[in-house]
This record gives sequence, C-alpha cells and structure tokens, in this order.
Amino acid sequence: MGAIKLENVEKWFGDLQVIKGIDLEIADGEFVIFVGPSGCGKSTLLRMISGLEETSRGRILLDGDDVTDRLPSERGLSMVFQSYALYPHMDVRDNMGFSLKTAGSPKKEIEEKVGRAAEILKLEDYLDRRPKALSGGQRQRVAIGRAIVREPKGFLFDEPLSNLDAALRVEMRFEIARLHETLGTTMIYVTHDQVEAMTLADRIVVLKDGRIMQIGSPRELYEKPDNLFVAQFIGSPK
Ligand code: ADP
Ligand code: MG
Repeated sequence: MGAIKLENVEKWFGDLQVIKGIDLEIADGEFVIFVGPSGCGKSTLLRMISGLEETSRGRILLDGDDVTDRLPSERGLSMVFQSYALYPHMDVRDNMGFSLKTAGSPKKEIEEKVGRAAEILKLEDYLDRRPKALSGGQRQRVAIGRAIVREPKGFLFDEPLSNLDAALRVEMRFEIARLHETLGTTMIYVTHDQVEAMTLADRIVVLKDGRIMQIGSPRELYEKPDNLFVAQFIGSPK
C-alpha cells in the first residue's frame, strides 16, 4: 500500500511561511504531479512528505498511520535524486545496493534486488561500470534503481529530468511512465515542465505561493481551469 494524506500541512522557515495549509489525499498507486512556478514550495512539500524536512504544523499520514514525526528511513518512501547524486567511486551495482548494504541486508538479497532493478531499467549490461562511463540517461536510471531496490510504498521525484537534454528528457519520461505501469507504486513527481505533467500524471496539483490553486486530471485542468493562473500555467485558452 502507499496511500498518502496531508492534513492542513504548513511549513515555516523562521517567520517566513512557505507552505500554507495543504490538504491532499493521494490514493495507493496514483501518479500525482506537483507543478508551479519556481519558489512556490514544491520541493519543500515533497521533502516534508519524505521526512527530509520537518513539518511545522499539520499531519502527514501513510496508509492511515501518522508519520509526521518519523525519520525518512521509517516512512517507507524513496526519494529519487538527480543523477549527479551518484557515488562516483562505486560501480552501478554498488550504487544501487548501497542503501541495502547500509541497512544490513544479506548479500544474496542485495544481489537479487539489484538484479531485478537492473532488469526493469535495462541496466544488466552496465552493472560493473562507474557513473562516469555511463550516458546521462543511464545515470538517471541508476538513480531510479537506487530507489527501486528499497521496494518503497511510494516514489518521490524532484525534477529528476531537469539536467538532461531535451531528447533524453523525452526518453526518460517514457521510462518513468513504464516504471509506474510495471510497479504500480504510488508516485509523487515535482516538475515545472507542463508536458511532463500533462503526459505522466493521473492528477496534477497546481501550487502557487505555498497554496493549492487546483487539483485535477490533466484533462480537467486543461478544460476547466478554476482561474487564470491555472489556465496560463497549463496552457489552455481561458
Ligand atoms: P520550489 O521547489 O517550488 O522552487 P522551494 O520549496 O524550494 O520551491 O522553496 C519554497 C520557498 O521556501 C522559497 O521561497 C525558498 O526560498 C524557501 N526556502 C526553501 N528552503 C529554505 C530554507 N532551508 N530556509 C529558508 N527558506 C527556504
Ligand atoms: Mg524545487
């Protein structure tokens, strides 16, 4: 399972409030995308869900359990970082297995899980390579593989494709869609790319200045934007 619920969630950095009373329910298996202009609070909200950032007020529930005060490692969600966060001195196999090794998993189990992730991501032939000997797309796959091996209840992506060139972004967009189809796991994905949002999401959450402006399917937002901000952001002619 991987149902995520936010209840009146707020974030303050000192006197500055950057997340302003967010209520949101995400069903198990749903692909939800956060969009909005730079600085609107997308990354902060995602980091609060992951546990990397403390929640100032409100509650975060995972499958009905209040996880607001739990550490990231206790929440069962995996954050996918941009590919430059790989360990340069480790090969693909060790990059993908590192978190399991740290958690003390048996060697055989690590091998099996890394093997399965490599198969899903088409990285079987690259397990002995170091990141610098991989293409940008392969590196991004390894970054995703690091999350897959942990068999999370949900994946959290923060603009995973933003440092790839345009052609690779399109390719990886299809890869991520395929990954969601294959695993069926809940995904929350932050982007400021409208095309990514419109093509990947079951539902899009449009954020502005720490508040939700509208939630809906890509089609709903396109055809019935609640306000001019959403219309302009999604690109429909309201
Ligand atoms: P986005 O990901 O949508 O671009 P962020 O979540 O990174 O936005 O940032 C939201 C707001 O919070 C911005 O005004 C940013 O400057 C501020 N902010 C983010 N992290 C911190 C921090 N650690 N300390 C103070 N302000 C922060
Ligand atoms: Mg951000």
